[in-house]
Amino acid sequence: MKNYIIAIWMVAVITISANLGQGQVVDVLPTVETAPAYGGDDDADDPAIWIHPSNPSLSTIIGVSKNDDGGLHVYGLDGTQIQFIQFGKINSVDIRYNFPLNDQKVALVTASNRSNNSIAVYKVDPSTRRLENVAVRMIETGLGEIYGLCMYHSPKNSKFYSIVNDKEGNVEQWELYNNGNSKVDAKKVRSFSVGSQTEGCVADDESAKLYIGEEAVGIWKYVAEPTDGEARTQVDQCGGGHLRADVEGLTIYRAGGRTGYLIASSQGNNTFVIYERQDENTYIGTFRIAAKGSIDGCSGTDGIDVTNVNLGPAFTKGLFVAHDNKNSGGSSSNYKLVPWDSIAGAFDPILKIDTSWDHRGIIR
Ligand code: CA
Ligand code: CA
Ligand code: CA
Repeated sequence: MKNYIIAIWMVAVITISANLGQGQVVDVLPTVETAPAYGGDDDADDPAIWIHPSNPSLSTIIGVSKNDDGGLHVYGLDGTQIQFIQFGKINSVDIRYNFPLNDQKVALVTASNRSNNSIAVYKVDPSTRRLENVAVRMIETGLGEIYGLCMYHSPKNSKFYSIVNDKEGNVEQWELYNNGNSKVDAKKVRSFSVGSQTEGCVADDESAKLYIGEEAVGIWKYVAEPTDGEARTQVDQCGGGHLRADVEGLTIYRAGGRTGYLIASSQGNNTFVIYERQDENTYIGTFRIAAKGSIDGCSGTDGIDVTNVNLGPAFTKGLFVAHDNKNSGGSSSNYKLVPWDSIAGAFDPILKIDTSWDHRGIIR
């Protein structure tokens, strides 16, 4: 009898622990979806939000098509397509502001091109909201099969980087620089291995940290500076942690005082997992994007992005964007847009809503 009671007690403790470990799981609702990515299959992947310098409601979502005849898409905040450039099988895209291109400071966009294992480089023209190629040459990486990409603007030396990876777990960091003639060139400044297949990554420009998802394993935190070594700590794990393989897209919500959130796509259970941005990246909670009206819910998400900035009437408290692998239940794919305050307000206590951090501002 005593053993029986102990067994019951242990089951109860384990059940309570598991529930506490899972935290809150909430549903949030999209308000906009983009036009589908080019190609009839799951061809969309990673998005990046570009913030218009003077009228934030004219900001855009830059998306990809990894179809063989794919490229980069640009969508308005109402989801309509502004531009589609067809130049290859584009997997991931990221953006950084204030890149010095002769007498201009431009929003620089880089993307991983699986057709030729290169890094594509574009700038955003604020007057048209369209992308313009500014690569001086084809920047071919040393990777056998390029996959994910993220960017990093160093607070230490002000240099800009693209960090790319492949399905073997190899990572390469490329320094981007003005070639003196308003074009961008790049040179490889570090390479290392995560261990196994990786794709999603994000750099925190204020803390100089680099987060990389090892798809079947979990999330790792490295230093983002190319000269500071490859020491790493594990933020969370697939299976035993709050993630269900594959861990895919990663993004950072920036609030004041270097606080905010690290957000990950947990593809295996169609959820998004939120951690503290600072310190030990403590787990906070989990959300799903459900269907709302004519907009279907979000599943199988690869890439994500988020901004804290007020993007005008449609997204006054910021915006979260996620790839959806089955648009309207079909095989085509697109992006779902969710107001940040819908996500923040779904948790108890509510998450931070801080629109003050300026992506074009000086790094603190
Ligand atoms: Ca993947
Ligand atoms: Ca869907
Ligand atoms: Ca739809």
